Amino acid sequence: MSTYVYDFADGSMDLKDLLGGKGANLAEMTTLGLPVPPGFTITTEACRAHLQEGSDPEALAAQVSQHLVTLERATGRRLGDPTDPLLVSVRSGARFSMPGMMETVLNVGLNDHSVEGLAGQSDDERFAYDSYRRLLQMFGSTVLGIEDGVFSRALDAAKQTRGSELDVDLGTEDLRALVATYKGLIEEHDGDPFPQDPREQLDLAIHAVFDSWNTDRAVLYRRQEHIPEDLGTAVNVQAMVFGNLGTDSGSGVAFTRDPATGKRGVYGDYLQNAQGEDVVAGIRNTVSLTDMAALDRTSHDELLAIMEKLEKHFRDMCDIEFTVEHGRLWMLQTRVGKRTPEAAFRIAENMVDEGMIDLDEALRRVTGAQLAQLMFPRFDHSVPRTLLAKGMNASPGAAVGKAVFDWATAVEWVERGEDVILVRKETSPDDLHGMVVAKGILTSRGGKTSHAAVVARGMGRTCVCGAAALDVDTRNAQFTVRGGPTIREGDVISIDGTTGEVFAGGVPVTDSAVVRWFEGDDVDDPLVHAVARLMEHADNTRRLLVRANADTADDAARARRFGAQGIGLCRTEHMFLGERRELVEHLIVAEAQEGRDKALAELLPLQKADFMAILEAMDGLPVTIRLIDPPLHEFLPDITELSVNLALADAHGHRNKRQRKLLEAVQRLHEQNPMLGLRGVRLGIVIPGLFTMQARAILEAAAERIQAGGDPHPEIMIPLVGSVRELDLVKGRILEVAADVRSETGVEVPFHVGTMIELPRAALTADAIGRSADFFSFGTNDLTQMTWGFSRDDVEASFFSTYLEQGVFQVSPFESLDTEGVGALVRLAAERGREANPDLHLGVCGEHGGDPDSIHFFDDAGLDYVSCSPFRVPVARLEAGRSTLE
Ligand code: ADP
Ligand code: MG
Ligand code: MG
Repeated sequence: MSTYVYDFADGSMDLKDLLGGKGANLAEMTTLGLPVPPGFTITTEACRAHLQEGSDPEALAAQVSQHLVTLERATGRRLGDPTDPLLVSVRSGARFSMPGMMETVLNVGLNDHSVEGLAGQSDDERFAYDSYRRLLQMFGSTVLGIEDGVFSRALDAAKQTRGSELDVDLGTEDLRALVATYKGLIEEHDGDPFPQDPREQLDLAIHAVFDSWNTDRAVLYRRQEHIPEDLGTAVNVQAMVFGNLGTDSGSGVAFTRDPATGKRGVYGDYLQNAQGEDVVAGIRNTVSLTDMAALDRTSHDELLAIMEKLEKHFRDMCDIEFTVEHGRLWMLQTRVGKRTPEAAFRIAENMVDEGMIDLDEALRRVTGAQLAQLMFPRFDHSVPRTLLAKGMNASPGAAVGKAVFDWATAVEWVERGEDVILVRKETSPDDLHGMVVAKGILTSRGGKTSHAAVVARGMGRTCVCGAAALDVDTRNAQFTVRGGPTIREGDVISIDGTTGEVFAGGVPVTDSAVVRWFEGDDVDDPLVHAVARLMEHADNTRRLLVRANADTADDAARARRFGAQGIGLCRTEHMFLGERRELVEHLIVAEAQEGRDKALAELLPLQKADFMAILEAMDGLPVTIRLIDPPLHEFLPDITELSVNLALADAHGHRNKRQRKLLEAVQRLHEQNPMLGLRGVRLGIVIPGLFTMQARAILEAAAERIQAGGDPHPEIMIPLVGSVRELDLVKGRILEVAADVRSETGVEVPFHVGTMIELPRAALTADAIGRSADFFSFGTNDLTQMTWGFSRDDVEASFFSTYLEQGVFQVSPFESLDTEGVGALVRLAAERGREANPDLHLGVCGEHGGDPDSIHFFDDAGLDYVSCSPFRVPVARLEAGRSTLE
C-alpha cells in the first residue's frame, strides 16, 4: 500500500517530487529543529491519482485520520473541539514553486461552536471571530468557488459602517455580524450552508487544493514557465499559529539577501496583528525588518539567526514566511528564493567569496537567459524626464508603453500591436494574462514580496510596485499622481524596474552596463564584476567553441569584442543588394554567356572588398563564408509591380525593353515553392560562374590579406547540399579557381571547403559527404523545416499556437532544437561524417546556436562549435560552460 501522507518529522528536502517544495522544506526545517508548527503532507502521488481517477485513492482517508490523531496529540487540541479546538491550514505546494497560483485555506476547523472555544482559550473574542470570518471568506472563494468580490464587498460595507478603511478597526460585534453575513452569502451562492463538520471542511479543502492544479491560471503559469503538466501538487495540513492576536503578534516575509539587486543583508516586510495573506495582499502598509526590531527585538533577533542558519544549510539565498504569535516566532515556509538576473549573478559571486560555494556551483546558478536579460537596454539618464512617482524596484528593466488598467484591455491592445504597461492598485492571479503580454507592470500598493513583484520577477517582466503617490482608479481607467497630473488609458508612460521610477511619456533607452563592458568600456559596477568573473570561469570550463553569425566587418568586430572565436556563418546574399542589384539583374537577364561574364566581372571586386574587410576584422580566426543561397527571384522586382509598370508603359506607348526582359526573367524563375526550388548549391551548378566568382573573390581577398601581413582563415561553405555529387561538382571548380589564384598571386592561401547539413538526405548520407568535406555546419533552421515539412513563415503564424496548446511540442522547434527528431539527424550525421573523415570539423550555424537548451544538446552531440548572432555570443559562452558541468 502506498504511503500517501508524511509527517513533517519524517520528510526531507530531498523528497520534493513527492512532498512538493513547500512540504519538503517544512520537513527539512522541522528536522533542523526550527520552530515549525507541526503538521503533515499529502503526497503529489495522491493528487495525481485523484486527478486521474476523479476520486481519492482508497487508503488516503484513513491515513489522513491517522496523522490527524498524531497532530491532535502533539498539540493537545482536537479538531472541532468546542472548548479548545485545533485549527489547521490546508496549503498547496508543488515540486516547482508557483507563487499565488494555487489555493491555501487557513483556520480550517472553526464552526459555530469551536469559535467560542477559540475565544475562550485565547481570551480574545474579537480574534476568534476575525479568524472565523477569514475561514468563511477563503473557504467560500477557494473551496466553493464563490467570487471573492462577494465577500470583499461585504467587508468593505462593514468597514464603511465603522467609518474606517482598515480591517483592524472592526470590533468583535462587527466581526460577529460579518460572520453571519458571510454564512448567509455562502448559503445563497452555494445552495448549501457552510459545512459545520470540521473533517468535512478539511476534506473539501484538500480536494480544492488538488483541483487547483488545473485552474486556468495555473495551467497558463506552467506553460509560461515550462513546468510539466503532470506533476500534481502536494497538500500540507499544518496546525495554525496566529499572527492576528494583537500587537505582540504579526506575520512577515523575508529574504536572506536582497532579491532585486543581490546585495548582502537581509530584506523583508513585517505586518503587525495580521495573518500571512495580509502581507502579500498589501492591504496595509508593512514595515521593514529593521523596524520590526523596534517592535519585537526578541523575535527579530531569533529570526535573523534562523535566516543565517537556513542560508548556510541551503547554501543559497532563501525566502521565508513567518508568523509571531504573542511574541513567539514560528517558521511557516522557506525555499531557495526567486531573484532577478542581477541578483543571481551577484549572489553567486558573493557566495564564492564567502566560501559557501565554489565557482562551478556559482556557474550552475546563473543562466544564459538571465545574462541575456542583463544585456537589455536601460533608460538613458542624460535625457531630461518627467518623474511622476517612485515605487519599489521590484523587477528590473526599462519598459515603455501605453497605460492600461485591466488585463483584458492589455491583451486586446497588444494583439493589435501596441506596447502596454499594466497599471493596477495591486495584482491578483486573475491579472496574469495581462502581466504576460505587458511590457511592464506598475502597482500603487504592495512591496517587493507582493504578487505583482514575485510574478514579474519570475517572468522577467519589468515591474515597479507600491508607488504610493499614485491614486489608481481602475474603474475610470486612469491614475492621478498626488498633487500632480492625471494619466489616462492610452497615455504613454515609462517605468524603470531597476530604480523604481515612473516617468511620463516615452523615455529613450541606452545600453546596459554589461554590454558596455563587453564592448570594452571600463565599467566599475558590482554586477559587471560578477558577470566578468563567471564568464571567465565559463570560458575556462567549456569545451565547445563559440563563433558568430556576421555578414559585415562591423558585426564581425563587435562579435569579436563579445568573445566570438571566429565566424560560423557569413551570408553573402546581402552583398548582392543595394546599388549592386542592377548588376545582379544583368546577370540574371543576360541571354548570352558574354553578358553574364561581364556582370560577374563587375561584381568580383565588390565582393572581394567585402571579404577583405571581414577577414581583417577576424584576423587569425576562422571565417566561414557561405556561397549564395536564396532563390534568384529574391533579387528581382516583384512580379505584380513589374506587370503594372509595363502595362502603364504600354498604355503610354513607351517601349520598355529592360522592364520587359526583367518580367520575362521573373516569369521564367517563378516557382510554386521557392524554398524547395532553385537555390543553394543548385544555383551553383546551373550558373557555374556565380560560385566560382565568389570563390575567387574570397581567395583573392585572402591572398591580399596575407600579402599585407594578415592571417586569414577562410572556409568556403556550400549550402543546401543533398548529394555528395553536388558537393564534388562545385568543389572541383573551387579547387581550379584556387590553383589559378595561387599561380596568379604566388600566394598559398590556407582554406577549407565544407558544406551545410540542412537536408535530411545530407544527414543520412553524411559518410559519403564527409569524405569530400573539410567541415559540416548544421543549418538547423532549414533542417527543422525540411525534417518536419514546415514552411516556417507559413506555419508559425497559422497553427503553431494550436500545436503548443495541444502539446504537440512544448516550445517551438525553431526556438529550441527538436532533439528527438531534428537532433537525431544531427547526431547521426555527426557520427557518420566523423567515421568517414576523422578530421571533419563540426559546427552549427542556425539560430539554435544561441539557444541555451540547444547548446547543451550540441555539446553532448560532440560538435566543435556553435555559431550565433553577435549579441548571443556571451550567452552561448556561458551556457557552453554550464553544459560542461552537467
Ligand atoms: P503560498 O504558496 O501562496 O505562499 P501558503 O501555503 O504559504 O501559500 O500560505 C499563505 C500564507 O498563509 C502563509 O504565508 C502564511 O502566512 C499563512 N499560513 C499558512 N499556514 C499557516 C499556519 N499553519 N499558521 C499560520 N499561518 C499560516
Ligand atoms: Mg507561502
Ligand atoms: Mg539554409
